[in-house]
Amino acid sequence: MPFSYQMGDVVQLKKPHACGANRWRIIRLGMDIRVKCTECDHSVLIPRARFDRLIRKILETAKNDRENTTNDQE
Ligand SMILES: [Zn+2]
Repeated sequence: MPFSYQMGDVVQLKKPHACGANRWRIIRLGMDIRVKCTECDHSVLIPRARFDRLIRKILETAKNDRENTTNDQE
């Protein structure tokens, strides 16, 4: 698995947004992934398979309080 990302992470994609920025925050994870441009707040929905190919690197990792989630099987 090349990248493991989670809600709230900020990622760089292979294509920058039309506004010129290339920082996307993950705001929804599921069959499709919704990312929001951190520069202009525009959000787009990308199918997960396509997103996996678009992602270049993870810029910021969200610090989820994993200790506080009781049913986390990781
Ligand atoms: Zn933008």
